[in-house]
Amino acid sequence: MKCDFVILGAGVIGLAIAQTLSQRGLEVIVLEQESGIGQHASSRNSEVVHAGFYYPTGSLKAQTCVEGHDLLKSYAAKRKIPIAWPGKLVVAQTTRELSLLESLYAQGKRNGSKGLSIIGPAGLQELEPEIEGLAALWSRDTGIIDSHALLKSLHQDIEANGGIVILNSPVVAGTREPKGIQLEVGGLEPTHLLAKQIINATGAFAPLMVEKLGGRKHRSPGRLVKGNYMSYQGKSPFQRLIYPLPSRDGLGIHATLSLDGRLRFGPDTREVQEIDYAPDEDMTRMFAKSIASYWPGVKAELLNPDYAGIRSKLQTRTDAFSDFVIHDDRKEGYGTISLLGIESPGLTASLSLAKRVATMVESKI
Ligand SMILES: Cc1cc2nc3c(=O)[nH]c(=O)nc-3n(C[C@H](O)[C@H](O)[C@H](O)COP(=O)(O)OP(=O)(O)OC[C@H]3O[C@@H](n4cnc5c(N)ncnc54)[C@H](O)[C@@H]3O)c2cc1C
Repeated sequence: MKCDFVILGAGVIGLAIAQTLSQRGLEVIVLEQESGIGQHASSRNSEVVHAGFYYPTGSLKAQTCVEGHDLLKSYAAKRKIPIAWPGKLVVAQTTRELSLLESLYAQGKRNGSKGLSIIGPAGLQELEPEIEGLAALWSRDTGIIDSHALLKSLHQDIEANGGIVILNSPVVAGTREPKGIQLEVGGLEPTHLLAKQIINATGAFAPLMVEKLGGRKHRSPGRLVKGNYMSYQGKSPFQRLIYPLPSRDGLGIHATLSLDGRLRFGPDTREVQEIDYAPDEDMTRMFAKSIASYWPGVKAELLNPDYAGIRSKLQTRTDAFSDFVIHDDRKEGYGTISLLGIESPGLTASLSLAKRVATMVESKI
């Protein structure tokens, strides 16, 4: 079998890329190891449509988050994907946090994030009476999206454009040939496939996949950081998403709302060696303490383990920041492009990353 563009992985990144390429009339096949689409990070996250103020100005994360936010907003409207705009409050508790908050605000302005303002205790009290803090960054343009509906819609678009998504098809290895890469596909019906260009969008598996495809290794082997979520029983006392200041590995244990108004908290940050999505059991005390820093009314007995996701990070323990990487390993238009370190805000940035990859593949063929 032959195909010009083979995309590995049917998470939101692989599907967004396949949708964009197929919309431009290119022939695409998506190979997915699982029996369904989006079984990993893309369905195990906070479903937040970020406004883009967390990331250093000029970084790929900042650019694709801000552009992806707007692309996702229009795409969701066009395809009737459930999306809502409750907004987000990032709450500072100390004068040190207040100065970090001001830096985030200034960075957000430089990045082009819309709808940002800083509010004091009175403004905070007015918006969310249960929340305590010295000040907050109020982001009106932060939203929540139904990630499952988004994945489904991208899948439908690919098929409507003549592309194919093949499930139960783990890619085991690839051999470089003069006119492309010969892929070895395992699973129930093992086969071979010759592709001119391969887009490696295998999420946490992507750094390893670069090697399996005989490519140039990225300097970081990648780290896995698990994030647990806990649901909160009863009616949510908040109408907005509530966040503490971000930490090195994550955005802090925050309060998010599902589209049907259910409240959940998370994710925490735990470095792990392998992928295991069972939520950890020993979390309640730590979660309650962390939440109490901005919501003194939290009741630990109403928290219950819910689900977990795994972040795929390129950031080593000594890096202050690590960007998304689009690793181009092609020669004369043949070879592999790998998407590496696509942690948060990957869901928000997906359509923008897809646009960039489409421009790259079109310019080389
Ligand atoms: C806890 C957590 C919270 C997050 N919160 C947010 C948020 O609120 N907002 C936001 O914008 N982003 C968020 N993110 C980030 C976002 O979820 C990810 O950036 C995004 O889902 C990455 O998508 P992906 O397609 O790269 O990876 P994945 O969804 O992991 O998809 C990779 C796919 O590749 C397949 N695959 C792997 N190996 C092979 C192989 N050998 N052959 C074939 N297929 C293979 C896998 O089965 C999988 O389906 C969060 C992430 C986490 C973990």
